[in-house]
Amino acid sequence: MRLTVIGCSGSHPAPDSACSSYLVEHEGFRLVLDLGNGALGELQRHIDPRDIDALFLSHLHGDHWLDLVPLAHVRRHHPDGRVPPPLPVHAPSPERGRITGAFGGASLDDVFTFRSPADTELGPFAISLIRTLHPVETHAVRVEAAARTLVYTADTGWFPELAAFAQGADLLLAEAGFVDGADNPSGLHLTATQAGELAKAANVARLVVTHVAPWHDAEVQAQKAAAAFGGPTDLARRGATFDV
Ligand SMILES: [Zn+2]
Repeated sequence: MRLTVIGCSGSHPAPDSACSSYLVEHEGFRLVLDLGNGALGELQRHIDPRDIDALFLSHLHGDHWLDLVPLAHVRRHHPDGRVPPPLPVHAPSPERGRITGAFGGASLDDVFTFRSPADTELGPFAISLIRTLHPVETHAVRVEAAARTLVYTADTGWFPELAAFAQGADLLLAEAGFVDGADNPSGLHLTATQAGELAKAANVARLVVTHVAPWHDAEVQAQKAAAAFGGPTDLARRGATFDV
């Protein structure tokens, strides 16, 4: 499978990146993990947004889903008249009113088919989930195809079961929203060192550090994560691709 970083900025868009969004492709199937604000712009450099086959929203904080609003517009109103079938959107149900609220409560049935998060198969991908430690319902996702595995932490504070969930992944896409040594609130984000420790505990082959807010130094976050991991570590950047 191939991973393309559509957006990797945490909390709000950066000058050089949209918020969280990742395109995962295998055998022509296009799975998008999160669609944060600004992501629809970069996504068009890679695919026609009408050609997304499934969308997984890890949680309903704005930096992970807000570009669902312009996505509905593109899928409904593109002037060439090609209207795709409703897009399956896997999203937590307790806070789903945030989405419908953004559309003034109007029906979205013509563009989206909402499904509650669950272990499932999406095209060629076997999907398994674990609830993370975050203020709203949030799921990390394990994506498997052709004996290869990608794990995306979504947003999460540290909890030990996450290492078992990510065990043996070929690529771990781990958030590092917090810097080490700061007065960080618990149950919200991983520090860079925790992201590296997670990669080490899970024995992953490769770590990609993401979800660094623009007010932090992403290079430093990647260096700290790499030091804690001791294995191949990359910093997620807009448009970067990884063959998993
Ligand atoms: Zn969040």
